[in-house]
Amino acid sequence: MVNQIEPSITSSPIIWVPSTIEEAIELKRKFGSKAEFVSGSTLLQLQWMNGRKIPENIISLEQISKLKEVQIDEDKKTLSIGASSQLSSYKTDRLLKNFPIICEALKSIAAPAVRNRGTIGGNIMGGVGDLIPLFLALKAKLLVHDEKESELVDFWEWLQHSQRKNQTLLSTIHLPIIKECANSYSFYKKIGRRETFTAAILTVSGSVRWDDHGVIEEAKLALGGGDNKPFLLENTEHKMIGKKGEEIDWKSVFESITSEIAPADDAFVSGDYRKKVAANLMIAALQSKFTVISNGEEESSYEV
Ligand SMILES: Cc1cc2nc3c(=O)[nH]c(=O)nc-3n(C[C@H](O)[C@H](O)[C@H](O)COP(=O)(O)OP(=O)(O)OC[C@H]3O[C@@H](n4cnc5c(N)ncnc54)[C@H](O)[C@@H]3O)c2cc1C
Repeated sequence: MVNQIEPSITSSPIIWVPSTIEEAIELKRKFGSKAEFVSGSTLLQLQWMNGRKIPENIISLEQISKLKEVQIDEDKKTLSIGASSQLSSYKTDRLLKNFPIICEALKSIAAPAVRNRGTIGGNIMGGVGDLIPLFLALKAKLLVHDEKESELVDFWEWLQHSQRKNQTLLSTIHLPIIKECANSYSFYKKIGRRETFTAAILTVSGSVRWDDHGVIEEAKLALGGGDNKPFLLENTEHKMIGKKGEEIDWKSVFESITSEIAPADDAFVSGDYRKKVAANLMIAALQSKFTVISNGEEESSYEV
């Protein structure tokens, strides 16, 4: 059943509170561009204060319990995270606690008050969140719904090609999981002007997987955060695949990263500076891992 909260003044939006995904989609179909989905509203509040038009209808996703579920499917080897899971759920959710890289990323966002309201889905659908590079690097798929269909889509493909993002409801983020695997590694690094409570200068994330001989079979490197358009560095990834860690020419990887990305300039930080920071962060994370492997100090862990 859809609840409706009447506006107190005539210019206030009508707030719709559906209890199922289907009701939320139907409301969006009915009101089209005059309605917006809202989860924790932490990003939207900022944008409304900065002049973004408040829609006539707000479709609150807060009462849809299905959007808050976190589950592991052992058969499909997938972790699924409901879009309305709060950023602070790394503290409370017993499954998420098993994924240190996700917890690390969640902890890096804003401050506790914002994390208690803001959601993982809102971070993704806002288009600029720090979780976007993480989920690109972890090969996320998104379960998205619009009036026509529900579809499980590759996150990177969807980011590049979907024309209908504003019409879409995100219900779940699906991540492939590998249990007790010593042959993979992922990292997440966020650089801000202060340690916390500040927009990122940039956020980078990556994941690599290698075979039993140490040959890299798969690499994902992603950039985003702050004003930077989320990007997956496919050219650089190809330079690493098929090589062992010790065979990689890190200078050429550095050049490849800096030529492949085009981070934003702003009044404080140039795009060129961001390029160098991104390349240094990614290479430092990868090199330190491959040094550990070649020194035989590797331990197995639970990785996404
Ligand atoms: C002080 C402060 C500091 C912040 N610091 C950071 C930071 O360090 N890093 C960072 O990444 N962000 C930061 N943010 C931004 C924001 O808090 C987060 O991105 C948060 O995760 C947004 O989630 P939300 O649920 O509040 O999204 P909302 O504000 O509710 O929505 C954001 C956008 O996503 C859409 N949306 C929300 N849920 C769905 C859904 N399920 N399906 C479809 N569309 C949906 C909305 O329509 C809207 O366009 C900060 C915000 C504040 C106020």
